[in-house]
Amino acid sequence: MRFLIVGQGIAGTLLAWTLRRSGASVLIADGALPGNSSLVAAGVINPVTGKRFVKSWRFDEFFPVARSTYRSLEIELGIRIWMEQPIIRLLATPEEANDWSARCALPDYVPVLANADDAGEWAGLVRPNFQFGVIRQAARVDFSNLLTTFRKKNEDAGLFLAKSVTYKEAERMSDNFDGVIFCEGWRGRDNPYFPRSPWQVAKGEALMIRLDETRGAHINHLLKKTVTLVPMGSSLFWAGGSYQWHFSDLLPSERERAFIQKNLDDMLDAPYTLIDHIAGVRPAVKDRRPLIGKSDAHPKMHIFNGFGSKGGSLAPFWAAHFAAHLLRGEPLDATVDIKRFSAPL
Ligand SMILES: Cc1cc2nc3c(=O)[nH]c(=O)nc-3n(C[C@H](O)[C@H](O)[C@H](O)COP(=O)(O)OP(=O)(O)OC[C@H]3O[C@@H](n4cnc5c(N)ncnc54)[C@H](O)[C@@H]3O)c2cc1C
Repeated sequence: MRFLIVGQGIAGTLLAWTLRRSGASVLIADGALPGNSSLVAAGVINPVTGKRFVKSWRFDEFFPVARSTYRSLEIELGIRIWMEQPIIRLLATPEEANDWSARCALPDYVPVLANADDAGEWAGLVRPNFQFGVIRQAARVDFSNLLTTFRKKNEDAGLFLAKSVTYKEAERMSDNFDGVIFCEGWRGRDNPYFPRSPWQVAKGEALMIRLDETRGAHINHLLKKTVTLVPMGSSLFWAGGSYQWHFSDLLPSERERAFIQKNLDDMLDAPYTLIDHIAGVRPAVKDRRPLIGKSDAHPKMHIFNGFGSKGGSLAPFWAAHFAAHLLRGEPLDATVDIKRFSAPL
């Protein structure tokens, strides 16, 4: 079968790779449009989220698929993109520390959460008076390296169109393919083939900061409170992110810079230099579940989107699931099927 994939963020990349491994041929188009989420993301895979430290949706199923997918890509592309790195969680209040300890005691949480006596690699760099937890089965995926290397490989093979595809063009091009699959990220909210999708996109910003060379160079663990510090090598750290549900442009803003820096100052007792400030838009949906499947309006138009703030952990599993559906007719999980938003009969 032949597919055209519109959009090469993490979703389009993983779907193209998975479809090809199952024997399909795929042409990819990407217009490098502003607001791309994958190139701004830290690529962190974190098993627990939110203030109550609850395990993420189906994490135990998604994590092994993510690990094997990214490791296979590492071998195929000759790059390093998968790094398993624990997260040191700063616990600021007795209530937080109690909630944490209660979770640690639950059998389901034993493999992922533990108490810690100190800040580990971050000792001496954080403010006093915190208690500490450690999150295991956490990882970081280098989205930027993956996307750039994958794109170059596709360009070299003549399988990449460096252009923005309009919906009219996609319709014309669909004559030459068995299906067109839209992986447009947040821009999918304007896609006329999926008009009833309840988008709730969220702009997010992050800072790149540099810690003192002698203190930052040895750190491989992530540090998290309200914001997360993610080591990127050479004492450089990704620090973020913020959430804005309403926004009028795609640019980094002073307000979010101040928010991130205030939270950094609450955590860190160490000087840093601000290197960069970046912004992107998360393709989030109201029910926080992916949007996958076929359009009601056009039999060749499909969507693979809605990965919100968790593209790194969700996209590998759902790419395999969707490929099995497209190529072998296996049923699509109703929780992610775009048909859940079809018009009532
Ligand atoms: C600040 C921030 C931090 C984040 N941190 C994490 C994290 O730590 N871990 C994690 O898992 N997720 C994180 N995320 C979320 C993550 O970025 C998303 O889940 C994921 O990247 C979405 O990927 P995507 O491919 O669907 O969309 P995108 O990455 O936005 O890609 C869409 C692509 O489609 C292209 N495109 C759109 N329309 C067209 C068209 N008509 N023609 C051609 N090309 C088109 C665009 O150019 C773009 O390249 C974060 C997001 C933000 C903003």
